[in-house]
Amino acid sequence: MLMELKSLTEKQENILVHELSQCYRIEHFVAQFPNVETREKAVEIIDRVLRRCKLESNGVASQLDEDARICYAILHMLSHELVLQFLGPCKQKYPKCIHFFKLSAAMNGFLSQYEATIYDANAGLKIDPNYYELLYDKAVALRLLDKDMNEAIEAYRAFLTIAPKDHRKVPESYYAMANCYFELHQRDISTDIVKKVYEQGEEAEKVQLPCFLPYDSNNKTELKFMFDRKSPPNVNVVAPLLDRKSRLLDPHRIRVIKQHRQWQAALLEARNDSMYTFMSGSHEPRAQQQAVKSLIGLKPISLREIDPTKDHVYNGYVLSVTIIEDAYSWTPSIHLVIEDEHLDCERMFIYGFPEGHGKYLTSKVFTLGSKMSIMNPYLRLGGSDMKSSVRIDDFSSIIMQNESERVLNMCRCCGTSNALHVCGKCKQAHYCTKECQITDWKLYGHKLICKKQ
Ligand SMILES: [Zn+2]
Ligand SMILES: [Zn+2]
Repeated sequence: MLMELKSLTEKQENILVHELSQCYRIEHFVAQFPNVETREKAVEIIDRVLRRCKLESNGVASQLDEDARICYAILHMLSHELVLQFLGPCKQKYPKCIHFFKLSAAMNGFLSQYEATIYDANAGLKIDPNYYELLYDKAVALRLLDKDMNEAIEAYRAFLTIAPKDHRKVPESYYAMANCYFELHQRDISTDIVKKVYEQGEEAEKVQLPCFLPYDSNNKTELKFMFDRKSPPNVNVVAPLLDRKSRLLDPHRIRVIKQHRQWQAALLEARNDSMYTFMSGSHEPRAQQQAVKSLIGLKPISLREIDPTKDHVYNGYVLSVTIIEDAYSWTPSIHLVIEDEHLDCERMFIYGFPEGHGKYLTSKVFTLGSKMSIMNPYLRLGGSDMKSSVRIDDFSSIIMQNESERVLNMCRCCGTSNALHVCGKCKQAHYCTKECQITDWKLYGHKLICKKQ
């Protein structure tokens, strides 16, 4: 039915809205649209149905109106403030419909309004005290509110008592609780209860559906990092395959990204000040990096095969990477942060690009999530800080991958694609989860660049 949205009668439109809302009542992401056009069509249909309800029923509550409102809220979920405003009257008109409270709690959560989340959750739980999704939202809000960890723990326990054992948030609840205990015990990782609850999380992972594995939890990663750091033979640092989440705590990564953002912030400030011209110092490279005439015979190389302590051009090799930070040009170079297939990251400076093209290149070509290959990569030890970077002197040694390869709506923290939530302040940074948003803010200094650009 979704495929033929073009020519529906009013009656068919009403049925569509009802069915869509049934999906959404089960789970927000059950109904997926095959493409943007179909989604747009659905949005138009929902608007029409809402308008008809308003005209025909004179504002009296009806099932169709309720259904259409649920669909509307979910389809506009990325506009947190707008949906939150929309939900206010919905909660009043349909005080028995728990979904409006659930959605409102979620929106407030995305906007870091945790008191309001708790208020919504409590209101919804009056309708149905066993609605465990709301128990979960409430627990998360209490933990992030950071006022009373005991209250947060109690809320997680309430969720765990009712939720099915294979609910995807069960292991996460244990890890989050372990983190609450960790906070309660002055961040002493050897506290028995922390370890015990953490292990309950690992136990709970065993009954997770395979589609939710490997299990993704920043709380788990953080605690695991603390446990491992405490035990003397630290094999974790050299483990060849760090997964997406555990590498978030890699000190090199944090340093590279934070520094990139510090400079970006300084640059933005300098631009706003017209009296000030900003130039970064340029140090002559020790080696000469050049493109090759042909790709034939080039061998792939990754960042971990490149010695970060040696100034060296890797002739005959090609390095394939993804851009994971906003690029900016700071005369005479373009600054990037790149990540390779092992999720290792490094800063990159491009010199020798066509003069006056910096702004175009950073906004249209070297965009977030774009993939590229670098022929004969040059590992340069920085002129000023003697830290490593990948340096490009010959602009033609870069081959941009097709736009279709680009990672869309990349989570600014972990790099996952199609991250749905957007930072409420800058409306630019995407995040896959609230946890990622917090990590990005605290660890990587998103606050440095969180402003309208
Ligand atoms: Zn993420
Ligand atoms: Zn932001």
